[in-house]
Amino acid sequence: MPKSPYEAFLEQVDEAVPYLKVEPEYVDMIKEPKEVLELTIPLRMDDGSVQMIKAWRSHHNNALGPYKGGVRYHPDVTRDEVVALSAWMTIKCAVIGLPYGGAKGGVRCTPSALSRGELERLSRAYALGISRFMGTDYDIPAPDVNTNPQVMAWFTDTYEKVIGRGEPSAYTGKPVEMGGSLGRSTATSRGGVLYILRETLKEMGLWGKDLTCALQGYGNVGSFAHMFCSELGLKVVGIADVEGGIYNPKGFDYASVKEHVMKRGTVAGFPDAEPISNEDLFALDVDVLIPAALEGVITEANAGKIKAKVVLELANGPTTPEGEAVLTDKGILVVPDVLANAGGVVVSCFEWIQGRTGDYWTEEQVNKKLDERMTQAFHEIWRLKKETDITMRQAAYVRAIGRVVAAMRFRGIWP
Ligand code: GLU
Repeated sequence: MPKSPYEAFLEQVDEAVPYLKVEPEYVDMIKEPKEVLELTIPLRMDDGSVQMIKAWRSHHNNALGPYKGGVRYHPDVTRDEVVALSAWMTIKCAVIGLPYGGAKGGVRCTPSALSRGELERLSRAYALGISRFMGTDYDIPAPDVNTNPQVMAWFTDTYEKVIGRGEPSAYTGKPVEMGGSLGRSTATSRGGVLYILRETLKEMGLWGKDLTCALQGYGNVGSFAHMFCSELGLKVVGIADVEGGIYNPKGFDYASVKEHVMKRGTVAGFPDAEPISNEDLFALDVDVLIPAALEGVITEANAGKIKAKVVLELANGPTTPEGEAVLTDKGILVVPDVLANAGGVVVSCFEWIQGRTGDYWTEEQVNKKLDERMTQAFHEIWRLKKETDITMRQAAYVRAIGRVVAAMRFRGIWP
């Protein structure tokens, strides 16, 4: 039986605990979400029928500050997955030192099968449903898989109508036209590729060499990862998404692939490329492998075939604990999600600050501050990994759980 995302999270915590001095009761608290809201949304379809849609918002931990995390729309989303994703947000925010706890939302639907009207009604119903479970100083949702600035605009508009006033920092990842931050839409990929991968390659002595990369996922994160890999000088030779994959040892031009995806909705069928499956993509002889889609794609079943030197986790939870053990044994470095993909929530924090102060920053200011935060966090984790001889994920969890528990001790256990 493969482990669920939440079981994977529990195992990741257990692997860090031996390197920490923490009371067991705090570990027990970190292993559970504080509160989970479950909704059933009756969605009026365009044909007049009504569909029951399941949705959740999980609040994992708020010792360091208000809950923070995205909302995902996906046909397979479950409560277990949303809870795991909220726990990973607690770790991620603490790794970077943001003043937030962890949350996540999920709506079980197939967005590509919904009309724009249906998507808007569903988004507004969800925003209404969670409106008493969130707020600028309580829980600040944001985009995740299959949600975008338009969805954040419907969420924000609904919330502001419910509370009867403007509230610019209740949601992040909004369109720039309504208070979103410059640089937010590219932040996850920019932070992961331009800053974290850059530092990783320097530490590994690979910086400046001719390097190749394979990319799984071509949504918001995957497509911009392609752009930033090219900017960093890496040749992207393989790309796969849900519909199929493409391979060309000469590398793919970002603008051409993007144009093809805009027209066809998939990288599959891109001219001048050999078709490959997702499984073939993982086995490509490349230097860097970037999973940028969903959880649990690198497992003990395929990790043995991976030839990359570095796995940069831009997705949340793409490597199972068993898969990671195989990679670590093979000497493959896994740069964990809670560090590698934190750029999105970092710029969400910048957006939250800008909305609260009314002082909006230039894109250069945003990117410079993002670089500073990510680079600093990377070196903290790298140093701890070296000093303690543990994996980067263990180091990230040690750092994060240490920070969360330090705040929990001051707060005490009450009521
Ligand atoms: N969904 C993103 C993540 O998993 C961003 C969350 C946020 O900006 O709050 O990190």
